[in-house]
Amino acid sequence: MLHGLMMQVPLAISSLIEHADRHHPDAQIVSRRVEGDIHRTTYRALHRRARQMASALQTLGLERSDRIATLAWNGYRHMELYFAVSGSGLVLHTINPRLHPEQLAWIVNHAEDQYVFFDLTFLPLVEAIAPFCRGVRGWVAMIDRDRMPAQSKAPLICYEELIERGLPDYVWPEFDENLASSLCYTSGTTGNPKGVLYSHRSTVLHSYAAALPDALNVSSRDCILPVVPMFHVNAWGLPYVGALTGAKMVFPGAQLDGKSLYELFEAEGVTCSAGVPTVWQGLLGHVEANNLRFSTMKRTVIGGAACPPAMLRLFQQKYGVQVIHAWGMTEMSPLGTSCTLKGKHADLPEAERLTLQYKQGRVIYGVDTKIADVDGSELPWDGKTFGDLLVRGPWILREYFKGDGGDPLKRDAAGRGWFPTGDVATIDADGYMHITDRSKDVIKSGGEWISSIELENIAVAHPAVAMAACIGVPHPKWDERPIIVVVRKPEAQLEKADLLAWYADKVAKWQVPDDVVFMESIPLGATGKMLKTRMREQLKDYVLPT
Ligand code: ADP
Repeated sequence: MLHGLMMQVPLAISSLIEHADRHHPDAQIVSRRVEGDIHRTTYRALHRRARQMASALQTLGLERSDRIATLAWNGYRHMELYFAVSGSGLVLHTINPRLHPEQLAWIVNHAEDQYVFFDLTFLPLVEAIAPFCRGVRGWVAMIDRDRMPAQSKAPLICYEELIERGLPDYVWPEFDENLASSLCYTSGTTGNPKGVLYSHRSTVLHSYAAALPDALNVSSRDCILPVVPMFHVNAWGLPYVGALTGAKMVFPGAQLDGKSLYELFEAEGVTCSAGVPTVWQGLLGHVEANNLRFSTMKRTVIGGAACPPAMLRLFQQKYGVQVIHAWGMTEMSPLGTSCTLKGKHADLPEAERLTLQYKQGRVIYGVDTKIADVDGSELPWDGKTFGDLLVRGPWILREYFKGDGGDPLKRDAAGRGWFPTGDVATIDADGYMHITDRSKDVIKSGGEWISSIELENIAVAHPAVAMAACIGVPHPKWDERPIIVVVRKPEAQLEKADLLAWYADKVAKWQVPDDVVFMESIPLGATGKMLKTRMREQLKDYVLPT
């Protein structure tokens, strides 16, 4: 046996910000703060403060791998913590503040968070959960000293005071790259949330991969505005990718409405953004209503839920913004696939190129996928056969935090573990994966499967429809039948019959929804996705038309 003779340098999150400091010292990080102003810093200054905070954390009597939580918007202080906490050998636990307070307290206790850093927006939340989080030693308000609340029911520490306790010449420690770096909980729509514990190695490898041209395509010439929150799978890794590439970063803080986002896009020269479809609905609504244009935006990553084709076309054809449809999940750090075309597709007619772009795309090197039937036998990549989607790779979960849920993997004949994603998909001969549905959302009608995503996409392509969700309703003969829940655009006219007729030439007759239910709004989950579990509850007394 002969080993290679190359250096063993551990992959460490701190090396990302060190690199940005050395090679992109003056690249900017711009944040809309909860204080209300626009704040500007650079990678060099941010690195200095991250080291100072890392050093300050040493004064708190913490031990290696202790968890430090955040309840915070996208902003420079949150980014400082991304590096200060993980870089110093602690674990950054980003919590989704949109969760129910009870669930929030449960997560804090389960993670055994020692300190919780929070934006002042979440003070009421902190005060509500503090009595139930006995293990938390302190609550750190991420705010200037002069804006600290005069009094509070929770014991508060001021971020800016804490950071002053540290020294900016702190030296990042070296440790095993497999050390835990950060923790995110799955949304837990059924049962308790489960913790996904990332490592330095998995995070750095994921950052390399995410920046690639056929993935998110990020370079030092970019200006990235992650709309996807830093509490949602680390903003899909973008703060790390920013440091890795030296791209300018723009953080929108708490103001995620279309108008505020648009202003920031234009004022800061944003070239690239990322978010779930519901966010873009708000932005596009504002742009459409005010006859605006994007002057610097080149592309946007849309994922977390299927991007409706109508949205993709609007972005590309009317606004000249390329859409990169991407798919992944918390258990995958999150990136699995992204949809960019191959060289051989350049001469395809536009309609065919679009059809490819509607898919969730090809895997990024590092991730391996397959589709399998119920017995686990692998299914063909013909673009038609659908099955359970399984994945494996160096940034994919092996086991949940504290072993919750037992062994989540399925073994193949060679004994290798695959993570079952819970998604149902097709893969074509070129490797383009298309999510048909989440296995729990797919509608099973008379032994056939109907894709809820497909029926939703058709509905939102109707000019009068703002949002649509398709759910299955029990049926005595067919097991389940689809109905479509629709939110009309403001002042738009739309009757049930119009929408059902709209389906006529688009899907087989048996796939047309049995009914249309109009609602004022569709409930959204903590990550901005349509909450079908809640809708099923709301419609539990609903009876199908006969
Ligand atoms: P996250 O925390 O990023 O929302 P979750 O783990 O809650 O991730 O959800 C992941 C699930 O979201 C996937 O399994 C899939 O069902 C869905 N999803 C993500 N991206 C897409 C996409 N582009 N198209 C369709 N579904 C998607």
